Amino acid sequence: MKVVLLGPPGSGKGTVAERLLRDFKFLYVYPGGMLREEMGKKTALGKKVAQFLGKGKLVPTPIVVGLVAKKIKGKTHYLLDGFPRSMDQITLLDNPHLVEQVIFLKISEKEVIERFAGRRICSKGLHSYHLKVLLPKQVGICDHDGTKLIRRTDDTPAVIRQRFQVYRKETAEVINYYRRRKLLATVNARGTPEEVYQRVKKVIEQLK
Ligand SMILES: [Zn+2]
Repeated sequence: MKVVLLGPPGSGKGTVAERLLRDFKFLYVYPGGMLREEMGKKTALGKKVAQFLGKGKLVPTPIVVGLVAKKIKGKTHYLLDGFPRSMDQITLLDNPHLVEQVIFLKISEKEVIERFAGRRICSKGLHSYHLKVLLPKQVGICDHDGTKLIRRTDDTPAVIRQRFQVYRKETAEVINYYRRRKLLATVNARGTPEEVYQRVKKVIEQLK
């Protein structure tokens, strides 16, 4: 199965990806992580990537696509996490058979803002909590290191709205493209992570 997982920030995509990997043993293809890995290993590519990021620039699409294409070459069972997310990535990938199913986690801007509003991290920045779905044992204190829980500075409604709208603008064409090709499954991303995952799982199981 060649599956693409897309969803805006706050849609719970990370949790869904984690569970899919565990239950279906996909080869995991996450371009963001792959770029960081190349940089960590200080490969020729990694050094090039670091240069772009160091200047505050985006990594050029051909580099990202090249990395992904190399990783999935000859493979038949993989999960592409958050990729492709723009039409130029699709064009450069240049092979319609590399994708068999696209899962889009759909959630409203309002819902995402509510979700982020409850997010807290500990003062060390290491552990995440949520006032509604992931509470610490002791109110306002990190279970692991006893530091105070704080709100992330980038979790303000204005910043969240901005991120959401950028994402929507960027992926709208991609979503429409896969819909036209009848490869798109839209999954309702409201509810608990478990509920969302069960909906996604059902889609994957029908593919088998
Ligand atoms: Zn902590």
